[in-house]
Amino acid sequence: MNFQEIKEQDSTYILHTYGRVDAALVKGKNARAWDVDGKEYIDFTSGIGVNALGYSDPLWVAAVAKQAGEIQHLCNYYYSPQNTALAQELAAASGMAQAFFCNSGAEANECAVKIARKYGEKRNAYQIITLQNSFHGRTLTTLAATGQEGFHKDFLPLTEGFLYAEANDLSGVEKLLDASVCAVLLETVQGEGGVIPLEEEFVQGLAALCGEKDVLLMIDEVQTGVGRTGSFYSFQGYGVKPDVVTTAKGLAGGLPIGACLVSEKLRDILKPGQQGSTFGGNPVVCAGAREVVRRVSDPAFLRKVTEKGSYLREKLSTLPQVELVRGKGLMLGVKLKDIDAHEVLVKCAEQGLLILTAKELVRFLPPLTITKEEMDAGLEIFAAVLQSF
Ligand SMILES: *Cc1c(COP(=O)(O)O)cnc(C)c1O
Repeated sequence: MNFQEIKEQDSTYILHTYGRVDAALVKGKNARAWDVDGKEYIDFTSGIGVNALGYSDPLWVAAVAKQAGEIQHLCNYYYSPQNTALAQELAAASGMAQAFFCNSGAEANECAVKIARKYGEKRNAYQIITLQNSFHGRTLTTLAATGQEGFHKDFLPLTEGFLYAEANDLSGVEKLLDASVCAVLLETVQGEGGVIPLEEEFVQGLAALCGEKDVLLMIDEVQTGVGRTGSFYSFQGYGVKPDVVTTAKGLAGGLPIGACLVSEKLRDILKPGQQGSTFGGNPVVCAGAREVVRRVSDPAFLRKVTEKGSYLREKLSTLPQVELVRGKGLMLGVKLKDIDAHEVLVKCAEQGLLILTAKELVRFLPPLTITKEEMDAGLEIFAAVLQSF
């Protein structure tokens, strides 16, 4: 099929929930991808922070293929050594105690909400504070958690029990935090909201406040997690200890996974029958995730993520059309001077560079394994595109 035929098929048979760019990718290698016509792209997206080890990493492919050839799925009523091992390895990398496996970020957050509700149930505390401009998913409950009205429109009524506080305003959170509150949920770097890192003081103050009031601190690491910001989970860079961590996107290196991690305090909070997922903890997906966790949790690997992030940041900051660069590690947002980010995205694709946007910013989430040569090739295209405006 040629590109035009693919585009027609999409237009006829797929609900138009995405604003798509004219490229149909069929092959990839680390941070390079090729479309149906053989055109090459440098990839600064990793599929929205999913392909942590780049496209088709040989060790990841081998781990996934091997597991698919042994046993591809089993019902959660039986034990799977792939998912038990992954749970232990995640506990070691995060300092959390136990995991519930599901298939996406939204599902991981749904599980976090259920845990918070159960934790507060005895004292009738059910409200959850989230932040304005946050993003937590597309289900009706995680939409309610998402502090952006634009996403709520047309889908009311949503799940009740969410309060929205302003980011970096501790006294604002304090005002909302009465006896009806069981948890606070936040991203340390607001991804979809425009790549906005929270202030360290705010996150640490919030952690202390949660501890004082016996309210759960829940961190949504769906985008920031698994090495993206230079620590395995971003909260580790903030020096706080959450009660609940949700993780997804990059965790299985390109296969659908989500996990809700709980601290020792919440060990066994959910009882048999209180949560479940048909596919959650699937052995093929877990085999892929184990290869990701093994590689990304290595301190030398994480140091390189930080170094690459600094390199990209430095190079981007020198471009005359760039107003500011913000973010952490390989999660970067670029604010441009009077240039529309979406127009840049479209032109970059034409010129062979895949990028993302977040609000009015251009966003980069390259594979964590991106090489200097790949970064330079992408930067060159980016600079040329900006110059054409
Ligand atoms: C992407 C994202 C989600 C939703 O994840 P899905 O896998 O699309 O359900 C939730 N929270 C954050 C911070 C995200 O970036």
